Amino acid sequence: MRIYDTIVKKKRGEALSDEEIRSFVFEYTEGKIPDYQASALLMAICLCGMDEKETAALTDAIAVSGDSIDLSEFGNLSVDKHSTGGVGDKTTLVIAPIAAALGCKVAKMSGRGLGHTGGTVDKLESFTGYDTSLPTDRFLAQVRDIGIAVIAQSGNLAPADKKLYALRDVTATVDSIPLITSSIMGKKLASGAKTIVLDVKCGSGAFTKTPEDAELLAKNMVSIGNACKRQVAALITDMDRPLGMAVGNILEVKEAIDTLKNNGPADLTEISVKIAAAMAHLALGIPYEKAIKMATDAVESGKAFEKFKEWICAQGADASYADNPERLPRAKYSTEIFATEDGFVTAMDTEAVGIAAMQLGAGRNSKEDRIDHTAGIILHKKTGDKVKKGELLAVLYTNEEQKATEARKTLINAYSLSDKEPKKKPLIYEMIGVK
Ligand code: URA
Repeated sequence: MRIYDTIVKKKRGEALSDEEIRSFVFEYTEGKIPDYQASALLMAICLCGMDEKETAALTDAIAVSGDSIDLSEFGNLSVDKHSTGGVGDKTTLVIAPIAAALGCKVAKMSGRGLGHTGGTVDKLESFTGYDTSLPTDRFLAQVRDIGIAVIAQSGNLAPADKKLYALRDVTATVDSIPLITSSIMGKKLASGAKTIVLDVKCGSGAFTKTPEDAELLAKNMVSIGNACKRQVAALITDMDRPLGMAVGNILEVKEAIDTLKNNGPADLTEISVKIAAAMAHLALGIPYEKAIKMATDAVESGKAFEKFKEWICAQGADASYADNPERLPRAKYSTEIFATEDGFVTAMDTEAVGIAAMQLGAGRNSKEDRIDHTAGIILHKKTGDKVKKGELLAVLYTNEEQKATEARKTLINAYSLSDKEPKKKPLIYEMIGVK
């Protein structure tokens, strides 16, 4: 099979066979196909698309390209979630203990933040001692014993995706629904959970900017997951404003703890409860409304918070920091931004908020960058809020004072103020695969 012929076929808009797709993925991963030919094929896929059968074949080839985890002993109870990435998205820290408190087995591999979006592993490493690299036998034992373990993605999980994603990143071929679907679902299949809930973000801080694109991506991922014998649901959620008020690792950990103590921001609480309920609905086979009641009760009763402490303690952290999060390290410097006029926050460039946090030291420009866990932003006003001239909009935190100048500019420009009250947008646009 010649890669040249596969490129020609896709360029003409024809469907590729399973064999052609498999051979492309395996040979590219093994270094037998050069980047320039792989790039040409990726661009042809971007422009001509792929049907469901082709997307399923690409997903499967990515899933089997490296290690996988066998969670079959947990059956439908094994749950995983994936967010397509956003700003202030600390939901895993809240959802995982709620779902585990309801009897789900949360066996999750998470990523680090890159660019304007954060990553769960960085947030968990805010706790000194938290071990993100448990060997498989300890990972499985912890899931068995306490119902929850979250580690960093293994180096050899879906290596085809690692190579393809790096190439897509520099060849303008990221924003293709079949390529995003196969990249995300390939990793989820290799991670082994039978039940998967996807949080598909939509808006200025997300990959998919419109509800229509987000819906297309969500439906594609659900049907590919179902075709691969997984129970999958997807929620399409707003990312036209950051989630919660905190952006940056330790700041987000504190907000997640507040939320588990039933004292968090309303948007973060609602999304976390609904995603955890979707997991329980599918994993335990209970009606969604009942799952919502159980998830709400787990937060209000403190059971989810107790599960959170049990989890971080099992992975080596000192759980007393969760009881007293004010003991977590703080940044040396802070600077405030105030409103310059009366009116409303009519819009926020959410990606720019994430970039401002990165400029403060909270995120990475490249994979090798070290991050400052204390850096970030606490928002005091978000889209839709009324403001008065001189009122506080946000506080920026960093350990390197010189970083604040550029970040201040970025954050000020991210806010749009006007005297016209903006139309309210839904927090959750749609749920797919929840009956
Ligand atoms: N996240 C992924 O893992 N892959 C994509 O292609 C896009 C977002």
